Amino acid sequence: MNDHTTRSTGSSDSVKERYGHALMNTFGPPKLVLTKGEGPYVWDADGNRYLDLLGGIAVNALGHGHPALVSAVSEQLSTLGHVSNFFATEPQVGLAERLLALLGVEGRVFFANSGAEANEAAFKLTRRTGRTHVVSTEGSFHGRTMGSLALTSKAQYREPFEPLPGGVTFVPYGDADALAAAVTDETAAVVLEPIQGEAGVVLPPEGYLQAAREITTAHGALLWFDEVQTGMGRTGAWFAHSSSGVTPDLVTLAKGLAGGIPIGACVAVGEHGAMLQPGNHGTTFGGNPVAAAAALAVIDTIEKEGLLANATEVGAVLQDGLADPRVTEIRGEGLLIGLDLTEPVAGKATAAALAKGFIINDCAPDRIRLAPPLVLTAEQAGEFLAAWPAILDDAYAADPGTAP
Ligand SMILES: *Cc1c(COP(=O)(O)O)cnc(C)c1O
Repeated sequence: MNDHTTRSTGSSDSVKERYGHALMNTFGPPKLVLTKGEGPYVWDADGNRYLDLLGGIAVNALGHGHPALVSAVSEQLSTLGHVSNFFATEPQVGLAERLLALLGVEGRVFFANSGAEANEAAFKLTRRTGRTHVVSTEGSFHGRTMGSLALTSKAQYREPFEPLPGGVTFVPYGDADALAAAVTDETAAVVLEPIQGEAGVVLPPEGYLQAAREITTAHGALLWFDEVQTGMGRTGAWFAHSSSGVTPDLVTLAKGLAGGIPIGACVAVGEHGAMLQPGNHGTTFGGNPVAAAAALAVIDTIEKEGLLANATEVGAVLQDGLADPRVTEIRGEGLLIGLDLTEPVAGKATAAALAKGFIINDCAPDRIRLAPPLVLTAEQAGEFLAAWPAILDDAYAADPGTAP
């Protein structure tokens, strides 16, 4: 572990400067240069430690460097690292079976390498209905490829890249009447996040997912849950829709699935699993045995370490402790938490938190999101909660430059 520190290739500033010359500026300047991680902590190139309450955006389910993930990946890589999809591997097949079992469905899985790609597969599958109309929701985020972008509501993301695949109608999220009005017998699918993640952890009203099921069934449209952010234990259940009792036709997964190894999955329930046939879709890396072995290790570890219950328990500790007169609303399930501030100072709050050794995310001017590793303990959550009032003090201070 320590040899990492000594092998640090340069100070944060010099790496940031090289980044500015060599990387496309799609993400803005990086906040930190990170060199190592352990559990829910990461260290920067200057040796500072941070408690990571974002977890690589809901990705690092087991935190950083979890031995189960490290050994699964190392063993698989040294045994068989990649084959094309001309061949099958045990981890790939085992993972598909495992996901179907966790979802409690019969069906078939297509593996990809990211959330956007999982959604591309699902989007293409919906076209095999013979219909092209898709209903998505305002505030939704489904990815940045041309297809997944067409389903994403933010005009600022979509408009520079139009024309995108057409036939998408956006309806207000959580409004079952608006959904009922938008879905017709020409609708191929309704795509929904069971909890909107990028929008700032927005939960639909009780009964919304059930209504979506009824509406889609009545019109012969597919019901597609994008669980890229909410799935795989993030909400304290295997899937955010688990408690709804609803069986969707399509589920897409990615972020937390393999704990940081790139992977995506499109699960089609029942007969829909046969809608994509040879020649319809493909991928070189998707179903890679290393990524599949990583995902199996993540699932095993969530079970062995009781991380679903931990997400629920520690999530409740965080939600309780975040209460403050400057916080108007706290929302979430498990370890996916969003909160609203009285003023648009979320960016300042994120900067103030970073200065105090905590990684959080401002997903809107007045909105903070937390998506820490599922291994976070109540005690570690407490480290952040102890600093929270002072973080807000700094965020609300007239001159953020005075923050330590
Ligand atoms: C992050 C996200 C995506 C896109 O995943 P990428 O791996 O970034 O392509 C899609 N849908 C949802 C709900 C997401 O949160």
